[in-house]
Amino acid sequence: MKVTILDGYIDEPACLGVPPFISPQVRAAAGAAISAGADVEYITIDKIRKNEVELNSDVTLFMSGNAVPGKYLRAMPASKKEVLEISLSIPGISILGGPATLDAEMCSSFDYSSKNDPAVSLNEILKREEVSQRWRTLEEWNEWQIKGAYIVKDHPDFPDPLIAEVESYRGCVRYKSGGCSFCIEPLKGKPLFRQPSDIIKECAKLTEYGVHNFRIGGQSCIISYMADLNSGDPPRPNPDAVKELFSGLSKLNPKVLHVDNANPAVISTYPEESRKIIKTLVTYCTSGNVLALGLESSDPQVISANNLNSSAEQTLEAIKIINEEGSDIGNNGVSKLLPGLNFISGLDGENKNTNELNINLLNDILNNNLLLRRINLRQVIPLRKEYKKSDKHSFIKFKERVREDIDQPMLKKMFPEGRILKDVYVELHDGNLTFGRQIGSYPILICIPYKTELNRFTDVAVVDWGYRSITAVEFPLRINECSIKALESLPGCGRKRAAKIFISRPLSNLEALSKIIDDVNVVERIKDIIVFE
Ligand code: SF4
Repeated sequence: MKVTILDGYIDEPACLGVPPFISPQVRAAAGAAISAGADVEYITIDKIRKNEVELNSDVTLFMSGNAVPGKYLRAMPASKKEVLEISLSIPGISILGGPATLDAEMCSSFDYSSKNDPAVSLNEILKREEVSQRWRTLEEWNEWQIKGAYIVKDHPDFPDPLIAEVESYRGCVRYKSGGCSFCIEPLKGKPLFRQPSDIIKECAKLTEYGVHNFRIGGQSCIISYMADLNSGDPPRPNPDAVKELFSGLSKLNPKVLHVDNANPAVISTYPEESRKIIKTLVTYCTSGNVLALGLESSDPQVISANNLNSSAEQTLEAIKIINEEGSDIGNNGVSKLLPGLNFISGLDGENKNTNELNINLLNDILNNNLLLRRINLRQVIPLRKEYKKSDKHSFIKFKERVREDIDQPMLKKMFPEGRILKDVYVELHDGNLTFGRQIGSYPILICIPYKTELNRFTDVAVVDWGYRSITAVEFPLRINECSIKALESLPGCGRKRAAKIFISRPLSNLEALSKIIDDVNVVERIKDIIVFE
């Protein structure tokens, strides 16, 4: 039997598979097919878009859908239109997996739709068993991740800037109370934790194949990894298990080792254990790491109406602890570990005052000189229940206030002028601009204000700020060779001075430059960014 795993790039709350990320689901599916004796081909939606491959396997699993749509820089997840069109050209048995299975029309275009675990469904279909819609066992999970690891070599971003998303457990530790009203994680039942040694083995196998960037992002709260589920709600964290996991992973010498989600209520309820865990993450992970905290709303009425996770006070406490332990600058020019913060609009119980309370919390964070790497604002997606029609206008207003009043001042603190950011991957041209990012969890989007060569790493120096991005020039900037656009974007330089520098080149030293610029403050601001040779 020949099986094709077609990767439409999934995006789920506890799993990212949009490039540069490769999701663990596609690797598990490949492993599950191999375990059932099949030959496996892994292709991505981009190959189909470019007509580089034809679908001709006996069985095709199409992994698709984004349950938490984000803004993507370069790679785009398969759209519904693409899924429907491609479903018509699948020759053998067709299976749909991922968040796309929440859409009845897409499901009806496939022979099978795997609502829970596509790897299990694929394995059952290949073994001619009835499709059970069960979740994989721990044994299957560990075996399939190892067997399917090799497909990373067929990913278009391999070896760089590819990041392997890795799962540490399934489900939510708040499963007993039903969890937050909008979230499907608690529906997965009692959390199933993978042992540190099994996760390390998976990453070692991926390392063997040439992966060197990892995000342990496949879980609802990394602080709760291996927590004692009988110790309360939320359960008490387990610092020893987290240390065993990350100290082991660091021995693989990854270039990037990051994490994703954390529950602020866990951190504030168990500050001692959580601080130990945060110290572990700071010690063993690489810099630029982010713990995305799911507050969703600061409004007590919304928190109560939706059985949310954490209060504004608890979240502020968690943000303080993470800042205290993680805000120092690491060797790539960014903080070692910072919090992110997620808000959801459109939940039950909202009123005119809700966004005011959210803004108050954000102002408290800003005024307390605490850093937030990313503020994620989104509208609720009715995956689990319906919500009354949300007020789009007030959501847009809220968004504008956050971007203008909070995001930009925060970026100025986090990425001050002249800060050197190392190893930025240059990914995309848009008109005369170039965009890039450091590799990892929620990296800042960097605009280089001129065209420069793509698909390579470079260092950059910060020169300006947008609301959700920064502007930076390549570092060191060769002042005698760079474009006039690069000169113009140097702090305090402007068009006139840039033109003067441009026509006076080559300049031999700072003295010659100072004569042209004729302002010691401007020279002071740019002298550490430029070189003359
Ligand atoms: S705490 Fe809430 S949002 Fe987070 S995983 Fe659990 S139910 Fe989902």
